[in-house]
Amino acid sequence: MLQAIITNGQTGNKMKDIVVQKFGGTSVADTDKIKNVAQAIIREKNKGHDIVVVVSAMGHTTDYLVKMAHEISANPSSREMDMLLSTGEGVSIALLAMALQEQGCPAVSMNAMQIGIMTEKVHSKARIIDIKTEKIKSYLEQGKVVVVAGFQGITEDLEITTLGRGGSDTSAVALAGALNAIRCDIYTDVEGVYTTDPRIVPNASRLEQISYGEMLELARVGANVLHPRAVETAKQYEVPVRVRSTFKLDNLGTLILGVEKMELHKPVTGVASDLSQLRIVVCDVKDNPGTAAILFNGLAIANISVDMIIQSYARRELNTNDIAFTIDKGDLKQTLSILEKVKAQLEFSNVFVDDKIAKISIVGAGMIDRPGIAAKMFKTLADNNINIKMIATSEIKISCIVDENDAKKSVESLHEAFHLESDEIAEVRGTLPDV
Ligand code: ASP
Ligand code: MG
Repeated sequence: MLQAIITNGQTGNKMKDIVVQKFGGTSVADTDKIKNVAQAIIREKNKGHDIVVVVSAMGHTTDYLVKMAHEISANPSSREMDMLLSTGEGVSIALLAMALQEQGCPAVSMNAMQIGIMTEKVHSKARIIDIKTEKIKSYLEQGKVVVVAGFQGITEDLEITTLGRGGSDTSAVALAGALNAIRCDIYTDVEGVYTTDPRIVPNASRLEQISYGEMLELARVGANVLHPRAVETAKQYEVPVRVRSTFKLDNLGTLILGVEKMELHKPVTGVASDLSQLRIVVCDVKDNPGTAAILFNGLAIANISVDMIIQSYARRELNTNDIAFTIDKGDLKQTLSILEKVKAQLEFSNVFVDDKIAKISIVGAGMIDRPGIAAKMFKTLADNNINIKMIATSEIKISCIVDENDAKKSVESLHEAFHLESDEIAEVRGTLPDV
């Protein structure tokens, strides 16, 4: 990337390369941690960069705000929820700006309304449409660190929105894109992206580098390190993202970027489990054109995302199908009420809900054009006596729904079967295991 050397007439400062640093809730959980974060920021600034910082709410503040809302109402209005939840980030930006100033670093805090982080008019999971950069740039030109509230947005008619839980990652990457930053560093409580969750498999290895595509699949299937929309945004704007630890600043973490550096020898990069979904089976749906459209259109209108979908040709003699799909556990109530509404049209017999499931996925750009990977996954699960309830694939991912109680064993056995435990940095891929 070209070094920006634009002289600013007003102050005589040169525009430097911009780095966006994002600190999550655990990194700013108390005032001592906020002071430490200020040091990490000053350290990066001293390397000669202009710094824009994005922060989350302190510790479990957002959970606490949600809890209070539910103590008052079982179904609080989503507008008021956004008003409430957006306050958490307001606290951390002000405190962090003070900590920076206290350590002699000029800083200014800004919320999304002051900046103009424009979103669509959807409460609780709004998407960013545009970010105005003039104010941020003018503060940077004055030599200030700009501390921005993550997670928040504002609509054209000045309604406050939020980007969905975990959304400050997306705020940070989108800001990096809008500001043409050279990098977005996501500081968190883990040391990077691992081949699987090290809490499940202790010998999981840290990936030095991973492509946007692989990270997107891993983030979606529950590798809780990065918000999936943040990865999508990074891919779209080609922002290199580094996931790294707030508590080990010398550790470079994992770099997420567009290019694969070398021929891929290992078919699988990572294994992930996701316990956040449940499975719904709609039985004996008439096998007519348009039935799936009616069902999923109803869910789409209610903004419910459906993940895996399987239609099976169940009863040939009755001309009916079973349609099974997975959704987030939190969307169950709404989904059932939508099913109730379309029942007359679809003439289904029963609806089964299975909320004790885990989605286990293997991800790797190296599986493209390499037959046998799915077979190996199924064989590994079978050898461990694990029953598969649903299967879905994409170009670089294979997911199986299994019983929740089999999640840990599934991850462990697949991690071993695909040789992900190697001590070497996993980017140096080994040879293809026998399939
Ligand atoms: N504070 C918000 C949450 O807890 C946003 C974030 O942390 O990314 O979901
Ligand atoms: Mg987060």
